[in-house]
Amino acid sequence: MDFPCASISIEALKHNFIQIKTFAPNSKLMSVIKADAYGHGVLTVAEALKQSDAFAVARLHEALYLRENGIQHPIVILEGVNTVAEFELAAENDLSPVIHAMSQVVLLETIHLTKPLTFNWIMVDSGMHRLGIRPEQITDAVSRLKYSSNLTSDIGLMSHFANSDLINDPRNHQQLDAMVSLKEITQLPLCLANSAAVMSYKESHQEWVRPGLMLYGLSPFAHKQGQDLGLKPVMQLRSRLIAVYDLRPGEEVGYGGDWTAETACNIGVVSVGYGDGYQRSLSNQASVLINGKTAAVIGRVSMDTICVDLTDIECPKVGDSVILWGHDSLTVETLAKIANTIPYELVTVLNQRVKRDIIDG
Ligand SMILES: *Cc1c(COP(=O)(O)O)cnc(C)c1O
Repeated sequence: MDFPCASISIEALKHNFIQIKTFAPNSKLMSVIKADAYGHGVLTVAEALKQSDAFAVARLHEALYLRENGIQHPIVILEGVNTVAEFELAAENDLSPVIHAMSQVVLLETIHLTKPLTFNWIMVDSGMHRLGIRPEQITDAVSRLKYSSNLTSDIGLMSHFANSDLINDPRNHQQLDAMVSLKEITQLPLCLANSAAVMSYKESHQEWVRPGLMLYGLSPFAHKQGQDLGLKPVMQLRSRLIAVYDLRPGEEVGYGGDWTAETACNIGVVSVGYGDGYQRSLSNQASVLINGKTAAVIGRVSMDTICVDLTDIECPKVGDSVILWGHDSLTVETLAKIANTIPYELVTVLNQRVKRDIIDG
C-alpha cells in the first residue's frame, strides 16, 4: 500500500448527490468536477455521478480528458475558449464552452465550425464582475448567437453568485433579480446555484443547479460542517507512522526548532508533508488521529513528513495508521480554518503523489 493515500467513498458521493436532489428536486443537475473533481479523482467521480444531467469543468483540456475516457454527458467548459482552434476542438468533441464575452460572440459570427456547438450557455455578469457579459448586452448577444450556424438554438443563461455563502445577503437577491428579469425577456432557462445557493437559497434553483463542493460532502459555509448539512465527507486522507522515539526536555523538533519538548516525551514521524499538499500553514496548529486518539502536529510541516506528539496515544508503533482529515472529529472544514483557508483549497491542492483509493461501490 502506498502512503499517504486518500480514500474515496463512492457511497458518500452518491449520498451527497441524492441530498442535492432533495434540496433542488425540480432542477436539472450539472455536477461541477473541475480541478480533478476538487482533488477527488475526476474519472472516479464522473463514473459515480452518472445520474448527473451534465458535467462542468473549468478548462478545455479537462473536458477533452473526460471525452477521451469515454464520458458521454454534456460537458460545460466554465472558462470558455478564445481561439478558432479551441472552438473547433470543442465542437468536434461535443463540448460546451461558456460564452462569457462579446469578443467570443464576434468570433462565432466570423468563423465557420465544421459542426455546431450544442448545449450552449451564456455567462451573464449579474454582479460578481469576474466572467460574464453585462445584462444590458444579453438580448443583443442572444439574437446574434441564435443567427449563427455555429451553434444550435439550445441556449441558456448562466451566472455565478459572489456571496452565496452569506445567507440572505441582499447582493444575492440583486443578482437573482437581474437574472429573472433576463429570463422573462429572453425566455431562456437559467443556471445559477452553486453549493451554498443550493442549500440556502431555494428561489435561485431555477431550471439548472451547478454545485461542486457539496458533492464532496464539504460545507461552503464558514460556521457549518458538511455533517450539519446532511452531507457525508467523500475523502479521508491517511498515512502511517514511520518512526517513534523519545525526546529529552529542551530538545527542539524540526526546521527552525519551532517546538521544544518541555518534559521527556514520545513523538512520532508521519509520512505526509507539503510536497503532498498537506499545507505548511498547518505547522504547530493541526492535529491527527492515531488509534482513535488525537495527537498534535508539532513543529513545522516538512516536504515529506510531519512530527506529532504521541503523549496521549497508547502503545504507538511504526506502521500505525494516521488519519489526517476526513473523520467526524477531524474534518476538512476544521483544518481549513486552522490553515486560514477554505475547504476548497485544502482538497484541491492535494497532488498526484497521494494515491486515490476507492473504498466501496
Ligand atoms: C466552481 C464553480 C461552481 C461550483 O461551486 P461550489 O461552490 O463548489 O458549489 C459553480 N459555478 C462556477 C462558475 C464555478 O466556477
